[in-house]
This record gives sequence, C-alpha cells and structure tokens, in this order.
Amino acid sequence: MRPERLIYLPLGGAGEIGMNLYIYGWGRADAERLIVADIGVAFPDMDSSPGVDLIFADAEWLIARRNRLEAIFLTHAHEDHVGALGYLWEALRAPVYARAFTGRIATLKMEERGQDPAHVNIVGPFPEQVAAGPFKVGFLPVSHSIPEASALVIDTPKGRLIHTGDFKLDPDPGLSEAHDPEAWAEAARPGIHALICDSTNVFSPHPGRSESSLPDNLHRFVADASGMVVATTFASNIARVRALAEAGIAAGRSVALLGRAMQKMVRVAEETGVIDAFPPLITAEDAGDLPRGQVMLIVTGSQGETRAASAQLARGRFPGAGTEGGRQLSVFVKDDPRQRARGAADRQCPVGKGRHGGRWRGWRLSRVGPCQPSRSARGPPDDRCPHGDPDAWRASPSARPS
Ligand SMILES: [Zn+2]
Repeated sequence: MRPERLIYLPLGGAGEIGMNLYIYGWGRADAERLIVADIGVAFPDMDSSPGVDLIFADAEWLIARRNRLEAIFLTHAHEDHVGALGYLWEALRAPVYARAFTGRIATLKMEERGQDPAHVNIVGPFPEQVAAGPFKVGFLPVSHSIPEASALVIDTPKGRLIHTGDFKLDPDPGLSEAHDPEAWAEAARPGIHALICDSTNVFSPHPGRSESSLPDNLHRFVADASGMVVATTFASNIARVRALAEAGIAAGRSVALLGRAMQKMVRVAEETGVIDAFPPLITAEDAGDLPRGQVMLIVTGSQGETRAASAQLARGRFPGAGTEGGRQLSVFVKDDPRQRARGAADRQCPVGKGRHGGRWRGWRLSRVGPCQPSRSARGPPDDRCPHGDPDAWRASPSARPS
C-alpha cells in the first residue's frame, strides 16, 4: 500500500506576483485530503494583457479534485489573496475560514458573484484552530498593511507548517496586532516541519520602519499645506487612511474619502470592530462647497490606476470635487515589483477644469517597511519563500546551495 504523504502545490503566487493559491494535502498519493490557502487575483498590464480585467490561477487541477477539498483559508483581505474567491467558489464549494475583517471582505466577494455568504466562517486568532480533514489550522496574527492579517499554523500528521502570507515585523502598526515574537515562539514550540514564507523585499538589508513613524510627519505636512490637500494610499491600509484623516482634522480641515474601495474598507473596519470610530467625514459634494484651504481629500488610485478617484479627480470628473485647470496631480510610485508587474509606476494625470482655485502639492508615501523572513537560529528543516518574483524565490535559504 502506498504510504501517506504531505504535499504542497502552489497553483499561483509562487515565483510570480499576485494570484496566490496554495494547496496542502495529506494522504495516500492521488487520494490526499486537501486544503487551500488564499485564492487571489493578479492584475494585468497593458503591455502583456490589454483588455484583461483580472487574472487568477488556473484551478483546473483543484476543481477536478474538489470532492477531496476540505476548506479554504484566507490569510488576509488583499485582492491578490481573496480576489478570486467569488469567481472560483462555485466550482470548489468548500467552507471558507477567515478572521472577521477578512471574512467580511470575503462575504462581499461572495455576494458580488451571487454566492451564499453563509459559507464564510469567522475564526478567532491562534491558538483557536479549525479542524479540516487531517489538518488543524489556526490564524496567527501578523502585522501587515491591512487589518487582521494572519499566518496560517497548519498542523498535519507530519508536523506543523507555518504559511506566513504577507507580513511585516512592525512592533506598532497602528491598527490590529503588532508583531509578537512571543506568539511566534509559542506557535513554534512543538517544532516546525516547514516554513512557507513571504519573500517580498527579501533583498532589502534595511529593517522596515514602523507604521507608527508616519503620523507626526503627516500632521506636519498637512499643517504646513496651503490650498486643498489631496492624499492617496492603498484603500485597504486602514491605519494609514485613518492617520491621514486625523492629520487633516488636526489641521482644521474637513476630510472626504473619494473612491468606493476606500469607503468600503473603512465601513468594514468599523463593522468588524477593527476601529472604534473613524474621524468625521464630509461628502465630496460638501467638500466642493468649502474653501479649498479647508479641505483634505483622501483618494483611491495610489498606483495611478486610470479609473480610480485620483485619476478622475485629475481629469476634473469626480462628482462634487472640482479641480483647477493648469495644475498637475502627480502620483509617485515606489519601484515595487508588484506595481512594475502592473505597469503602473510614475503616472501623471493632467488636471482638468474645476471650480476652485488653489495649489496642488504632492508628496510621496513610499511603502513602509520591507518584509524580511523571521528565522530562528536553528530554523525549520524546510523553508520555502514562494511569493514574489523568481529572483526572490531563488533567494530562499532552501534554494541556496549549503
Ligand atoms: Zn498583502
């Protein structure tokens, strides 16, 4: 009789940017019981895939074996980790597990595609665990640029696996859990059979700056600004969106959020208790009626996306929020491999005609903090750094000759 075995099969996200979809299995060959970690999308670029809106992993292998699929686990709510859920769930039909914030985003994804959101189950942080066939899976909090990101602690008959998802070693991320070395030590106490680790910025020798290092500078920038202030960042970076809003309020400005994605993320953060209360906001229409020097807009489109609020605003088309002809709204994007893959770097949008006078002042909020694998002195017997581009993958310690 064939022996039982542990398998790891990335259908997406390994050696490439985005569309994370990883399979773990345990059992006899070709009869393994399976679980999925993340089910995300990648974003096309105009050079290689014009006319394509979304790309996700080819799940044919998994769909053909869906009767062996026990559950889908979501590490966090970034699109490259949850974006394909609504599209693929009908073909997979397995229960979905996530923490509250991620679960609420997953629920919305299911509803958008006509799926029953009751299949999404909310799980508390590790040491709470979910039994899924031969696996037990827990959500170990990590700091990241979105609330309630978690590594997966996957107990298998072969031993414990840690699937990190994306993470940053931030002792004070401003929202959700800080990096907690003691929690990681506790999770590692039984021994780790394999670490499956994010590799974003693995080449950077610099420790990441904490998200908490931003607010003081933001307050100063906004307080010193004249005219209207427009800031952009990732919609899902609730800590930073809130810090921007607080800087605007502290400077005596009225603050409006422009862009549905950002409004949705803030609403979900409030609904799930991630934040108690967001600073008071006004609508874009109300902002249009105020003197520009009293207004701060926080807008989507930090990567220069052509349909986001920043681009609409730059063209003078955003309802209620006028812009002034002859000015320029510039969005500077750090040379990030994920954004390079989207072909979205350093776009400038000419400002269209609007109702109010004033000045644009741009500044750059580069990504804060490289993600570096956290490794114990001994390390697990096996580790894999599957995320990111092929160079980062090859930089995995397990890929280097010893
Ligand atoms: Zn992420």
